Amino acid sequence: MIVLDTAKSLQDHVRARKAEGKTIVLVPTMGALHEGHIALVKAGLARNAHVIVSIFVNPTQFGPSEDLSSYPRTFEADRTKVTAAGGHAIYSPAADQIYPPGFCTTIRLEGPASVGLEDKFRPTHFQGVATVVAKLFAQSRADFATFGEKDYQQLQVVTRLSRDLDLGTQIIPVPTLRESDGLALSSRNVYLSKADRAIAPTLHIALQATAEAIRAGRSVASAVLEGSSAIKAAGFALDYLEARHASSLDPVASLSDGPIRLLVAAKIGKTRLIDNIAV
Ligand code: AMP
Repeated sequence: MIVLDTAKSLQDHVRARKAEGKTIVLVPTMGALHEGHIALVKAGLARNAHVIVSIFVNPTQFGPSEDLSSYPRTFEADRTKVTAAGGHAIYSPAADQIYPPGFCTTIRLEGPASVGLEDKFRPTHFQGVATVVAKLFAQSRADFATFGEKDYQQLQVVTRLSRDLDLGTQIIPVPTLRESDGLALSSRNVYLSKADRAIAPTLHIALQATAEAIRAGRSVASAVLEGSSAIKAAGFALDYLEARHASSLDPVASLSDGPIRLLVAAKIGKTRLIDNIAV
C-alpha cells in the first residue's frame, strides 16, 4: 500500500499511473473507514481503475460547536481496510498541503447547497466541503471520484461543483450501505450509546414508511408529518424530514413534481444522524 502525504507526491504518483494508461478514481474520505467507504473503493475497482483513497479530516467543514477534535482518527485500521479491499494508494495530507499559509480562497455555492437542509443547520459546511473537494480534484486530476448517497445533499453539491467549474473529475454516486437493521453506516455511529443505538434504526424505518405512504397516494405533506411524528416519538430531536426533488433538492408538493428524495437529519443523545431514500 502506497501512502502519499504531500500534494507533490500525489501529483507525481498520478502522472506516472496515467502514463501507464490507468484511469484514476479518487475516494475522498475523512477516515474512520467502514464498509460504506469500502463500497466506494469497490465501485472504483469495478471500473478497472487505479483507486486512491484520500483521508483528511477537513477542519473547514466543521462548525465551531461541532466534533472536529473528537472525530475518530484510526489511520492504521484504515490502511489495513483499504489494503484488504484492493485499493492502490492512500493520500493522507497534512493540513498545510490543503491549506497553505495565506490560504484565502473559497467557492460561493448556490443551487442544491442553499435549499434549507444541511445548509440551514451547518451554515459553513458545504463551503468547506467544496473547497477541499476542489483542492483534491485539482491535486489528483482524478478521472472519477466516488461519493456516497448517504450524504445526499453533498453528492448533489459536488456533482454541480465539478460540472459548473469544469474540474475534470466525474462524480460516481454509490448507494448507501446499511446495518442489517437499516441504520446507515457512519463514522459517527461510534458515538451512539447502547440505548441510542437501539433507537437509531427508527430513522430508516420512518423514511421507508413515509415513502411507502406517498407511493400509495397519501399527500406528501401528511406523509411527512406522520414520519416526523414517528421520529420524534422515538426520542429524536428532529432537525428536518423533507421531501425534495432528487436533483435540484427544491421542495415538492406531489409525486408529479418528482423524482422525490426524502431526507432526514435528527439528533439522538449527542449524535446527529442523517439519512435519505428515494420515493
Ligand atoms: P466521510 O468520511 O464520512 O466524509 O465520508 C466519505 C464518503 O463516504 C462520502 O462520499 C460519504 O457519502 C461516503 N459514505 C459514508 N457513509 C456511507 C455509507 N453508509 N454508504 C455509502 N457511502 C458512505
